[in-house]
Parts: sequence; structure tokens; C-alpha cells
Amino acid sequence: ENHNLFAALRAAFPADLDATAIETADTATPLFYTWRDLERGTAMLANLIDSLALPPASRIAVQTEKSVEALMLYLAVLRAGHVFLPLNTAYQASEIEYFIGNAEPAVVVCAGKNFGWVSKIAFVAGTKHVYTLNDDRTGTLLDRAAFHSDRHTPAVRAADDLAAILYTSGTTGRSKGAMLTHGNLLSNAQVLHQAWGWQQSDVLIHALPIFHVHGLFVASHGALLAGAKMVWFSRFDPRATAARLPQATVFMGVPTLYVRLLGEAGLTPEACKGMRLFVSGSAPLLLETFRSWQERTGHSILERYGMSETVMLTSNPYRPESARRGGTVGRPLPGVGVRVHDDQGQPLPACEIGGIEVRGPNVFKGYWRMPEKTKEEFTADGWFKTGDVGKIDAEGYVTIVGRSKDLIISGGYNVYPAEIEGYVNDMPGVAESAVIGVPHPDFGEAVVAVVVAKPGATLEGGAISAALKQQIANFKVPKQVYVVAELPRNTMGKVQKNLLREQHKGLFA
Ligand code: ATP
Ligand code: MG
Repeated sequence: ENHNLFAALRAAFPADLDATAIETADTATPLFYTWRDLERGTAMLANLIDSLALPPASRIAVQTEKSVEALMLYLAVLRAGHVFLPLNTAYQASEIEYFIGNAEPAVVVCAGKNFGWVSKIAFVAGTKHVYTLNDDRTGTLLDRAAFHSDRHTPAVRAADDLAAILYTSGTTGRSKGAMLTHGNLLSNAQVLHQAWGWQQSDVLIHALPIFHVHGLFVASHGALLAGAKMVWFSRFDPRATAARLPQATVFMGVPTLYVRLLGEAGLTPEACKGMRLFVSGSAPLLLETFRSWQERTGHSILERYGMSETVMLTSNPYRPESARRGGTVGRPLPGVGVRVHDDQGQPLPACEIGGIEVRGPNVFKGYWRMPEKTKEEFTADGWFKTGDVGKIDAEGYVTIVGRSKDLIISGGYNVYPAEIEGYVNDMPGVAESAVIGVPHPDFGEAVVAVVVAKPGATLEGGAISAALKQQIANFKVPKQVYVVAELPRNTMGKVQKNLLREQHKGLFA
């Protein structure tokens, strides 16, 4: 039996291969890719890869702008049985040098405009093949693939064979390469297919990057495994997305996309009438966004939780919609184990806060070339320590309160950043906030808040502290509140608290 993920996705193509699989929404004129186009295009690319006679499990590193051809390249790498390694398009030379040096890919595919410096880095790392792929269907990759047959038998792979290496977002430190297998990805895609009620009649607005779990796996696999059509944006544009909602049924976004869509006059209940599912993840969705979305559209955003190492772990219920709880990431997906342990490794009762640990067919094989780190992150009984801190209530809903690296211990008391941020964000005029701990001679760590005002609002740090004193215990109240223009974010849009800590570490020294 072939456990190649591509084979499973291919088997889900609709009977009518001439139906549209992907329609581009932001090219000069719309392009329509049929299922047959995907079948033939991935076959040609897979044949090109086969012709290179690479050693088994070769890495194929890809840093290109988002395009349908780039998605086909991903599928072709699966089809040929090698390991796909996507790289964030924002990465510059020093980052690419690290990833390529670390992964030693046999093939590198980059944007034509970057060929000069990327190929230099690749050749130094021993890569033999460097191709270009642009977002307008040009480049040497497609030129070469054009000479190859459009028929290809998918390579036979076991469930435990590597399919992709995804570098984590680097929010807490240097990115690590998470090794994901065909079995990891397929089991998760099948579970989500069921959990979210995917149908062949669905139309997904795909507006996320495809170098990350959310856009590459959750969104693309969802549509492909359903044989459903995608409306393809190479970059997110709130106005154009809102204008497409009437023709769609599913949308997936990170929280900032929802915030930006809320700024669009075109976001109305009427426009969302045909929509059956809005999914959010990758970062915490503010309760305020969840509620505003309900008011504006009549829909509750379904928040889910996952990571590069595990794909999806928990999800709010699809049905009934009223069971979706803002501020939580829902319940463990079928087949996924989620538990909360204290620092001594002891299980905690419902509603108590501790480290989130997980297991299941979706959990990765380990970090690429980091056996020590891999060992550290698994418990003796085989659960993966996510590095996230949270709790599970009596009904099984999981709430994330922060990352263990961001936990604050002030005067011996645990302070969970997300709790304080929740209070701060609820204050009038506050757009968002980040709560961190900085070294303090008496308390060990002191709570500090960094706050961003809504456009047009004026905030005063002292007033925020004073207001918090009325609401929460004194040890949780920030000793200092900074009002800033924006929070530092990494290329995935995640707040980098390590930078804030660094910036303010001398405050009480
Ligand atoms: P690194 O591991 O390199 O520091 P990262 O953890 O941000 O970076 P990813 O694997 O892209 O890299 O992100 C996974 C993390 O994103 C999770 O561990 C969790 O902290 C956060 N996350 C994902 N979904 C949610 C969510 N719905 N709510 C809150 N946090 C979320
Ligand atoms: Mg992480």
C-alpha cells in the first residue's frame, strides 16, 4: 500500500478533471487551473525531479513568491517522494544561509530576482541544482519541466517517511526544522476534513502564504482532499477578499487578517451569506475580534490551535456554531491527546494552568539534525512538550495563556501574560498589548506592559496601571506601562517578546 500523501490527495480529485480546481483572484486576468492541470503539471515537475536521480529523502528547498505553480511544486515533491522544505519569502541572505546550510538541500528553487545570491549560498552548501520560479509562470524550473512527460506514477512511501521539513517561525529563538511525515500530514488532513465538514461544493478563499503550516497544509490540504475549488490570492488584500466572500464558503486567516477585514465596509452579513466557515489560528484571536466579527457578519470565527511540529491539535466545534468559545482554542481533535502537566511532570486537574503536552499520529518525528533538542522536548512516556502554557476546562476546552518562555514569576507568583493582556486590551482606546517580565532586584521579575493605542486614541501608561489595580491582584499589575506605536513582530506576524524583554531588561537594574 502506498502511503504517499500525494496519492491520497490525487485520489480525492473530482471525477470531472476539467472542473476548475484553482482560480486566481489577483492576476491581471483570472487564470483557471483545472484538476487535470494539477495532475499534469505535478507529473511533469515530478518527472523533472526524478530525472535528477537524487538520493532518497533529498530536501528540495523553495523560496518563491506564492503562485499556483509553487503549490504544484510542493505536490510534485511529494509525488516524487522527496522532502519539501518551504522558506519564508521575507528571509534574507543571512537567514537563507542558515537554512540552506542546515538542511543541505539537493535542489533549491528561488525567485529569478534572487538567483544571484541564493545560488551562491546554495552552491557553497553543496546543492547541485538551483532553479528559478517566478510568480508569472516563468523561470528555469518550468522551462525544464516542459520537456518531461505529463504522466507519472507516485513514488511509494511509508507513512513514517518524511514528506516535509517546516522551520518553526522563530518566535522564541532560532527556527528549528520540524520533520513531518506523510502519515503526520495525511492523518491530520483527514481529521480536519471530517471535523470541519469539507464538501466538494466548497470554495476556499486561499489568502495565506504557502511556506507555513496554516496556508500550505491546513488550507491547501483541506480543499484538495475535498476536491473543492480554491480562489487564490497571492497576497492578502482585505478589500478584494471581502469582495470575493459572496462566491466562497470557507476562509482561513491569522488574527490580523480578520482585524483588517473588519475595516472593510464590504464585510456585511449579506456578503457572508454563503460562507459556512471562518477559521483562525497561528496566534491568539482577541475576544474583541471574535465578538466584532459576530456582530458584523453573524458568524462565529472557529479558532483552532496547532504548530509546525504537530500540525493541528485542537479545534472549536464546527457544529453547533454556538459551541465555539471565543478566547479558547476548542477541544482536542479526534485521535489527538492533549494534557496539562506541572513543572514536576504531574498531571493537573481541570482548569489548572500548566505545560501543554500532546501526542497523536500528527506529532512530528523530531527536529532536523537536533537529536538532543528532540529528546528534551518529549516526556519519558512519549508526549511532546509544546512549550505553550494553558488549561483544559471540565468540558475539554483548551485555553492558551502564553508560552512557557514568556511566563512571568514575580515575587514567587506566576503571572500569565495572556490574562493581563486580556484586561488591557479591553480598555477603551487600546488596540493591542504585550505583557512581559523583566529582571527585578526584589521580585525576581517585574510585570511590564507594552501597549499600542487605537488610531486617534491617546493612552497614558499610569492610567492603565491605575485601572488595572481595580481589577486584578497587585502582583499582576504592571509596574511600568509603555505606550508604543507598534509591537515588534517576526515575519509570520507573531509578537517577539524576547525583543521586548531585551529592550527593557535594564528597567529595574
Ligand atoms: P518558534 O517555535 O520558532 O519559537 P513558533 O512557535 O511561533 O516559533 P510556529 O510553529 O509557527 O512557530 O507556531 C506555533 C505556535 O503558535 C504555537 O506553539 C502557539 O504558541 C501559537 N499558536 C498557534 N495557534 C494559536 C492560537 N489559536 N492561539 C494562540 N497561540 C497559537
Ligand atoms: Mg514553537
